[in-house]
Amino acid sequence: MKPQQVREWVRAARRIVVLSGAGMSAESGVPTFRDAQTGLWAKFRPEELATEEAFRARPQMVWDWYAARRESLAKVEPNAGHHAIAAFQQRHPGRLTVVTQNVDGLHQRAGSPGVLALHGSILEDRWLEAPRPCCAGAEPLPGRPPRCGVCGNLRRPAVVWFGEMLPARELAAAEDAAAACDLMLVVGTSGVVYPAAGLARATQGRVVIVNPQASELDDAADAVLRGTAAALLPELLED
Ligand code: NAD
Repeated sequence: MKPQQVREWVRAARRIVVLSGAGMSAESGVPTFRDAQTGLWAKFRPEELATEEAFRARPQMVWDWYAARRESLAKVEPNAGHHAIAAFQQRHPGRLTVVTQNVDGLHQRAGSPGVLALHGSILEDRWLEAPRPCCAGAEPLPGRPPRCGVCGNLRRPAVVWFGEMLPARELAAAEDAAAACDLMLVVGTSGVVYPAAGLARATQGRVVIVNPQASELDDAADAVLRGTAAALLPELLED
């Protein structure tokens, strides 16, 4: 399948979903989960750090891991793929919905409106336990992690950890968008993390994979484009 054919599908589509994963941000210099395990953190697997259990057992260590990822995110910019999506949305309001597994905020920074961030945001944090009036009443005490000065409740990254439920509102909106779209571009995801990957299997619309390597969703696709997000999306989404 040639990109030109997919561009015709884009032109004809009334509703489009972009389902993005870590590969979407690779060309911005954000490592995918597996590539991120370098240096100090190489001896830990993400599955060992990105869980509530790990945070409760070693809050400082998990907080520091996220702090390192936040710091490196401050130095990166959205790439040509993020910009091509946002520009399309601005030219065609309401026609394209971004559903992302990424927590890096790069779609939002490129100017995409209404991004459905299924796995939360690494740029924000929230209370570990349901907040009591004391938690809301004052600034958290600085620390790694910060805590409520009265009850000790901890701040935690506002991401969805392994084993946690996805945010219900975002997931329902993503399911609605997947059901209503006639074209889904699946960009930079290995397709192994559910329920996000299930959206590509549930849609009645055409499914196009944009990924330089094989993914678990290739068998669900009407077209597979072997290329990168920043190289292909500007071409696919131009008018
Ligand atoms: P993944 O790391 O499992 O897979 C990344 C996929 O992107 C691979 O299939 C790879 O071939 C592809 N890829 C690599 N470079 C690409 C490029 N330039 N263009 C297009 N595709 C490219 O990522 P996943 O499927 O998103 O699942 C991992 C989980 O990790 C997700 O739940 C996500 O929340 C989280 N995560 C997020 C970020 C981020 O926010 N940027 C980074 C790492 C992990």
